[in-house]
Amino acid sequence: MSIYNFNAGPAALPKTVYEQASKAILNYEGTGLSILEIGHRTNLFQEIIDEAKGLLKELMGLDNAHEVLFLHGGGSTQFFQVPMNLLNDKATAAYIDTGIWSSKAIKEATLYGNVEVVASSKDKQYSYIPKQFNIPQETSFLHFTTNNTVEGTQWHTMPTDKGVPLVVDMSSDILSRQLDFNQFDLIYAAAQKNIGVAGVTMAVVNKNILEEISKPIPTLLDYKQHIAAGSILNTSPVFAIYTCLLNLRWLKAQGGIASIEKINHQKAALLYNTLDALPLFKTIVNKEDRSKMNICFFIENPTIEKQFVDLCTKENIIGIEGHRTVGGFRVSLYNAVPLSAVQVLVEVIKKFANMQMC
Ligand code: PMP
Repeated sequence: MSIYNFNAGPAALPKTVYEQASKAILNYEGTGLSILEIGHRTNLFQEIIDEAKGLLKELMGLDNAHEVLFLHGGGSTQFFQVPMNLLNDKATAAYIDTGIWSSKAIKEATLYGNVEVVASSKDKQYSYIPKQFNIPQETSFLHFTTNNTVEGTQWHTMPTDKGVPLVVDMSSDILSRQLDFNQFDLIYAAAQKNIGVAGVTMAVVNKNILEEISKPIPTLLDYKQHIAAGSILNTSPVFAIYTCLLNLRWLKAQGGIASIEKINHQKAALLYNTLDALPLFKTIVNKEDRSKMNICFFIENPTIEKQFVDLCTKENIIGIEGHRTVGGFRVSLYNAVPLSAVQVLVEVIKKFANMQMC
């Protein structure tokens, strides 16, 4: 039985990743050991983490100034780890507020220094990306969320003209589209969407922006120490990193980011075009700022929402409910979701619309 999983994260991974991960739990590459019992300071794990880092560097086209780190604590830990490492007492960090996740990042950053929210789309339910803004002089860095998982907006043109280091939360669109990743000084992303599984977080850090910080940083939260220890400061989430490696190998075999981006574009276009053609559904996001990863929409008449969910469940479609804070629906189209799954969903959407007309 096929299940069509559109969860926002943890999200669907390719079937081959599940198969290989299952095998590795029983016997990792003929060693007679389970991947779950392999130590983080063994050669076996060193090979896994080296290959995973190498693949990320290759897929993202990173230069030598950018270090790939595997960290603990989810995307949310980065909300305070970033200012802890980059924001000195008297300095200012500029933040753009485009949704729930960026506002959480702002809240944490204020614990470490001055934060100025230089732009926000809160006035219109976070339905657009603010494009006109200035940043204060002497800004340490500019932080924004490249894709807003809950609200369904995405930066399609990056604000690269501000002359300050750029720090981005790329949790929900990393590896989904071609970008010049070297233009960012710090990228962080929770793994449970496009990289791999929950339990590990990736950060890409430009070594040159790590200056002296006046307040002491706890060892486990210090990027410099993670770089020096090659991401193995303490016990690594071995299985989570191994699963990321399997998923990165899969992405490379698909033709890398350039190939997956084309499919991601087709998936999003198919779904948006279907919704736009049916008056029963509405999307509130500014068209030019629409996310290709998280498609958020509503039913004009909310009393029939449950009927729609029930029909989807009957057709083995799951994970389409909107985030609890915004309601409506959200379909997440991360890399591992095939076009064929979106084709199934679109047929069910049309069937539901027809049923309402009868
Ligand atoms: N940032 C974004 C854009 C997210 O979508 C999420 C999780 N959905 C997070 C941060 C938080 O990640 P975590 O739950 O791993 O802390």
